[in-house]
Amino acid sequence: MSSLDQFAQGKIDDLKRRHLHRQLTETLREDGIWVERDGRRLMSFSCNDYLNLSQHPVIKQVALAAVETYGAGSGASRLVTGNHPLYAELEARLAAIKQTEAAVVFGSGYLANAGIIPVLAGRDDLVLADELSHACLFAGAHLSRGKVLTFRHNDLDHLRALLAEHRVAHPHVLVVTDGVFSMDGDLAPLAELNALADEYDAWLMSDDAHGLGVVGGGRGSSFVGNTHIPVPLQMGTLSKAVGAYGGYLCASAPVIDLIRNRARTLIYSTGLPPSCVAASIAALDLIEREPGYAALPVQKALAFTRRANLPEAQSPIVPVIIGAEEATMAASKLLADEGYLAAAIRPPTVVAGTARLRLTFTAQHPDDAIERLADLVRERILA
Ligand SMILES: *Cc1c(COP(=O)(O)O)cnc(C)c1O
Repeated sequence: MSSLDQFAQGKIDDLKRRHLHRQLTETLREDGIWVERDGRRLMSFSCNDYLNLSQHPVIKQVALAAVETYGAGSGASRLVTGNHPLYAELEARLAAIKQTEAAVVFGSGYLANAGIIPVLAGRDDLVLADELSHACLFAGAHLSRGKVLTFRHNDLDHLRALLAEHRVAHPHVLVVTDGVFSMDGDLAPLAELNALADEYDAWLMSDDAHGLGVVGGGRGSSFVGNTHIPVPLQMGTLSKAVGAYGGYLCASAPVIDLIRNRARTLIYSTGLPPSCVAASIAALDLIEREPGYAALPVQKALAFTRRANLPEAQSPIVPVIIGAEEATMAASKLLADEGYLAAAIRPPTVVAGTARLRLTFTAQHPDDAIERLADLVRERILA
């Protein structure tokens, strides 16, 4: 065996011993709800397609028409020839929804965070991140080469203490957090975070991957409770409720202009396929036209948490925390035997000792299937 293969096999053996080895399972998504896996048909509670728009017939037609008109791929970076005519409309729509001056679209949410943060923070600067922030916020923070510190989850006092201690030592400070936390489904206290950041002349960046389309009337986490919190850096993805692919930042005109000039993941990566951009525009149309539909995923999640005796859902994401990796895998298998796909989430995606089923609710999940799932979770998994 070569040293390379020995290295890889050693790492794999270790993961297997710790029940942390993962495999890619072929999954055929038939529509927004049903999937086929290992020859079985399962109702999925594990997709982030909260509004089932990836399978919406009108949106699929729009994507197909974009392929006909503009081609399957974009051909180059947006800064060279990849900036096809659909981008301007999508960016204007995103800025309008988030009530910012401008927006810029990236190849994905991960690329957005990996690109934005190093433009705004450098070697002498400080990034303060909620400890449960998404992995790609940390990736961006570390790429900045600045100092990275975490504050306890949603803990304003801890953040204040860190700002009080460290603010003066750095020219710029960026505070980053998920708007809706991806593995826990709870919301960040954005109004308080924004006020605190302002107080210390720090800049708040929210990652609204799981907010756009489903909370705050579809506008996302800075619009929850019929208010508008003017978070200066609002990042998100087009790959969840929007049902397509891509990432974005909504911010002031100068910030967006700077990002377009300096974000390496924008400059050195090919533009999105036109079909993704077209599908995103059509999806945003639908989200704006039908706020009642956009409210359904959270309503369904709430119906589930009430019946399962869990803390009330704040978003379409509901964690069923089990703790041990093996028991979590067993719970996922139990639900699969009952016809449900409920993916197990293990460390390092979540903190050790908090392995869980991460359930996601979508607009089209039938109420009776949700009730049965809640009963199974209450009586056979958490009992
Ligand atoms: C999924 C996710 C991302 C990454 O977005 P992609 O478009 O899938 O790359 C970023 N942040 C959070 C919080 C996410 O859940």
